[in-house]
Amino acid sequence: MANVSPASRQPAVFYGHGSPMNALESNRHTQAWRASGEAGAPARAVLAISAHWYVDELAVTAMAQPRTIHDFGGFPPALFAVRYPAPGDPALAARVRELLAPMPVRLDHDWGLDHGIWSVLAHVYPQADVPVVQLSLDARQGPAFHHELGRRLAVLRDEGVRIVGSGNAVHHLGRLSWRPDARPHEWALAFEAGVRDCVLRGDDAPLIDYERFGEAARLSVPTPDHYLPMLAVLGARLPGDRARVLTEGIELGSIGMLSFALEPT
Ligand code: ZN
Repeated sequence: MANVSPASRQPAVFYGHGSPMNALESNRHTQAWRASGEAGAPARAVLAISAHWYVDELAVTAMAQPRTIHDFGGFPPALFAVRYPAPGDPALAARVRELLAPMPVRLDHDWGLDHGIWSVLAHVYPQADVPVVQLSLDARQGPAFHHELGRRLAVLRDEGVRIVGSGNAVHHLGRLSWRPDARPHEWALAFEAGVRDCVLRGDDAPLIDYERFGEAARLSVPTPDHYLPMLAVLGARLPGDRARVLTEGIELGSIGMLSFALEPT
């Protein structure tokens, strides 16, 4: 799109979503998410990539009214009662498919918005008045592919579309503790700090090849699903962006809440 002023360019934002209960809570993380929705130019739509749609294909939600998916168990009824009624944007879904061609992208009418998306957007856009399209992660592909996805979609930021990734840079449920006094694991602190440094420096290569972080990476990223949305956001970085940390810190011992925006200066 021609003649876009920097003031109207949308940011690309990664949210460390943590526990689904964040949808209902107000804490320092959700307050930072909320502020991010109020910052910058109003978005026409959101293209969202969540850890929780990790499938053996690329698919993009193309329905006019996506349902709210409660893809978890063992949480209170109040969480299952949450509805996030943001409309879809079928034209944006078609645009995403066009930008990723010739890669096959299925126009999806079954999924909706999973909790990786709505637990965050309930704070970012509490009125649910910004249309949301969700793009899957492709479980057959790795970090470099998902970084490249972001690169190809970055042009949307000049079309009024906010690119949002939702996952966690550090996410090891097997080491999680619900004790209120749970202390962060050293490897979790080390990996989140390493990721943060690379994000702020604009150095994506070590994050694509994250296994070079060794044991800290192996423990922080036992499966790639929560890590890959961050790479898609990083791939959508544009010249002149600055990276800004929105919130950070290890919750429940092994969940990294690092959230950051790549935004025009
Ligand atoms: Zn999650």
